[in-house]
Amino acid sequence: MTKPELLAPAGNLEKLQAALIYGADAVYFGGKNFSLRAYGDNFTREEILQAVEFTHALGKKIYAAVNIFAHNADLDALADYLTFLDGAGVDAVLVSDLGVFALAKELTGLKIHVSTQANVTNRRAVKFFGELGASRIVLARELSRAEILDIKADCATELEIFVHGAMCISYSGRCWLSKFLTGRDANRGACTHSCRWKYQLVEETRAGEYFPVGEDERGSYVMNSKDLCLLPCLDKVIASGVASLKIEGRMKSVNYVAGVVKVYRAAIDAYFDGNFIVRDEWLAELDKVAHRPYTTGFFLSDGAPTEIHSTAKPRRSADFLGIVRAFDGSSMTATIEQRGRFAVGERVEFLQPHGRTFSQTLTDMRDADGLTISVAPHAQQVVTIRVDEPVEIWSLMRK
Ligand code: SF4
Repeated sequence: MTKPELLAPAGNLEKLQAALIYGADAVYFGGKNFSLRAYGDNFTREEILQAVEFTHALGKKIYAAVNIFAHNADLDALADYLTFLDGAGVDAVLVSDLGVFALAKELTGLKIHVSTQANVTNRRAVKFFGELGASRIVLARELSRAEILDIKADCATELEIFVHGAMCISYSGRCWLSKFLTGRDANRGACTHSCRWKYQLVEETRAGEYFPVGEDERGSYVMNSKDLCLLPCLDKVIASGVASLKIEGRMKSVNYVAGVVKVYRAAIDAYFDGNFIVRDEWLAELDKVAHRPYTTGFFLSDGAPTEIHSTAKPRRSADFLGIVRAFDGSSMTATIEQRGRFAVGERVEFLQPHGRTFSQTLTDMRDADGLTISVAPHAQQVVTIRVDEPVEIWSLMRK
């Protein structure tokens, strides 16, 4: 059996680098327009060229999400953008809309991946898209393992499924709720996550009188979904024979990308080394990144999701403090590009791209001029700290 690709989100250039350094085989990103994350950082054309160069230098793959549902007014600019992506050397484009599919096919030599937003739920749809020229299908998130196996048994086209990340109550992301309530269209990348809002009931003649809809003491979150996590059944996921395992989260932090990628990298490798068990340290790491309660979604079900609904807000059990940019073994010091406040005397830990996670107390810290400081309060400040163990560049410091 071929090892499946581990595919990670790249919300910006730094997250792309983190994903690849922490073990992703491939990354996906959105440009400034035409991907379904209009409010993410996203990539300029210059950044796309840098991203392609960085990814290919590591022998890995990079895919461009162009998965909006286009309107006529978008088509000229889309044609120009697709042509640019082809010239930039991305390895595939991810599309939902058949018009965008047609443009990519006519104007470029790019491989075409069909996005989960296209809602492919059966083997005839997979076959149809394959005949149309798609090289990969991202299956709808609403499929069970039995359905995925059934599709895989009768299909020559590569399949990709989501294994981790946020889900929403719409059908594979196709939703009108945000557009209806705010004018911002989820299908054109502008979702306001209206399903996560707290809802109450108002009788039409009693404006301003809100009747609570009893769900729990915090209110009513009737449409709020848990986050997907297929780690507990990753052996079954891999055995299904899909080609690519995708992590959601282009809007999430570099801490999320690094932590989740590292866990799934280790789990996939363990499976192929013949020693897969769900390790406590993997579950602990997935608890440290921002997430809602986890669910295996539809994968282990017979059609209906298993306990997908959640009233919980996102949480994480570790705060991200900074990135290790350099390490000097002779002085046992690490140079940290700071992201959160930290101070001498605090207990911190280092998540490393390859090595084990270790903890220590901060004892000695200096600013960029070499002056001793007790606290690093400003984001993006560069400080040097003494470390108890050698630490890899690109390690993340957290508390
Ligand atoms: S409003 Fe909620 S259900 Fe609709 S697309 Fe956005 S996240 Fe999904």
